[in-house]
Amino acid sequence: MTRQHIEAAPVTVDGRDLSTSDVFGVVNPATGEVFAHAPSVGADQLDHVFGTSLRAFESWKDDETARRAVLHAAADRLESAADELAPVLTAEQGKPLPEARDEITRSAMWLRYYADLEVPREIIRDDAEAYQEVVRRPLGVVTAITPWNFPVLLALWKIAPALRAGNTVVVKPSPYTPLSLLAVGRVLREALPPGVLNVISGPEPLGAAAVAHPIPRKVSFTGSTVVGREVGIAAAADFKRVTLELGGNDPAIVLGDVDIDRIAPTLFWSAFVNNGQMCLAAKRVYAHHSIHAGLVEAMAALAKSVVVEDGMVPGAQLGPLNNLPQYERVKDLVRDAVRHGARVAAGGAPLDREGYFHQPTVLSEVTDGIRVVDEEQFGPVMPIIAFGDEADAVQRANNSAYGLTASVWSADPERAYALAATMDSGQVSVNVHGGAVMPTLPFGGRKNSGIGVENGLWGLHSFSDPQAVAGPPRKRS
Ligand code: NAD
Repeated sequence: MTRQHIEAAPVTVDGRDLSTSDVFGVVNPATGEVFAHAPSVGADQLDHVFGTSLRAFESWKDDETARRAVLHAAADRLESAADELAPVLTAEQGKPLPEARDEITRSAMWLRYYADLEVPREIIRDDAEAYQEVVRRPLGVVTAITPWNFPVLLALWKIAPALRAGNTVVVKPSPYTPLSLLAVGRVLREALPPGVLNVISGPEPLGAAAVAHPIPRKVSFTGSTVVGREVGIAAAADFKRVTLELGGNDPAIVLGDVDIDRIAPTLFWSAFVNNGQMCLAAKRVYAHHSIHAGLVEAMAALAKSVVVEDGMVPGAQLGPLNNLPQYERVKDLVRDAVRHGARVAAGGAPLDREGYFHQPTVLSEVTDGIRVVDEEQFGPVMPIIAFGDEADAVQRANNSAYGLTASVWSADPERAYALAATMDSGQVSVNVHGGAVMPTLPFGGRKNSGIGVENGLWGLHSFSDPQAVAGPPRKRS
């Protein structure tokens, strides 16, 4: 299946195909070969794209009840297309087919959550003398820019709240994974009014041009810290609002009282799911020295048991890494760690086959100060670092330019919650990593992990400006 050439879905603008004069190749990471050509939108087409979105905003912003109904219809349509979309996602991203399908259905969940969310009115004063209310006004057109690790889900994290709040959206996926979102754009034409959601694709400088364009009033960006900084600086030129969801190097602190067998699978998959290509994966494990050896052994046993295969092959648990630069980076970080004295407890090398496959790798005898611990590796690698003193572990975990998520693991949850309160991160979870990632809870990073949050009422409000309304008392009906 993945060796076949796939016909890319067209760009969706104004509810219709937008033709482009150029295309670019998309590689299947399981083979390393170009298997599709995606449309490449030219910077000279952006006036049309954003102009369409602005016209659609004029009516879309007015009727919240209608928007909620449309989001439900979009969720239904997306979910019913899951079987058609999942193989496209696997072919371009690499993840196993059941996970690709799960990504689609989880995306529909975000649409439903924002369709159903009851937003309380914020009346500050309403008495015989005065009326004061804070009303959330949509911003206008939103530019959404997304990465290649969860190409559909992370786009819907933006699209669902932006549309519910009354904005229209121009979304640009990563050039490594444009096909699934282009296909989503075509599917959602059946549910959304024309111009409300526009899906464009193309290599850089398309993203930079979509940030700099004068029409959008907000940029919602998920990606690397380096590009996020450029986006933030560019958006500041005309005071566009920004949400920047950036990199992470998330620590998991495992205390000495844990039952290793009990936590092992959960901890393992929190680092290795999607090949570790997840901003909130557990990327550094700090294990108390009393359980360090046992934990290394348990993680290594799991790593050795994982089926690494083309994501289209039934039973595959991990597919290839998504792209060549990422594959080279992971190999490089593992080699560097070994040069600095790391012991390879499992994996440690790429697979000897075509495509970007790497063995799930567990490293011990590692410590802070080597690249695989200090940098965001974004790959199937778990460095396990021994600690003696909890305060020291917290200090080392927090000693990072990033601050996305963190976790603390203990047989005594209250002890873990006490340590969790000291973590310098946007989210922290106990006895699970990434346990707070759900539509209802704010997700965002501290420090170089970003600005602003997505999800929940907090994410919704990031797609509006508060407008204070004040005056004499209102008539009561
Ligand atoms: P990236 O920063 O290279 O690219 C992200 C997107 O930005 C892509 O669509 C890309 O085409 C576009 N882009 C590139 N240059 C641009 C520019 N100058 N202006 C505007 N857009 C531009 O990131 P990536 O390699 O696709 O994704 C991996 C990174 O994303 C990792 O660092 C990961 O931690 C991060 N990430 C963060 C979150 C989060 O929610 N915090 C979630 C997933 C991934």
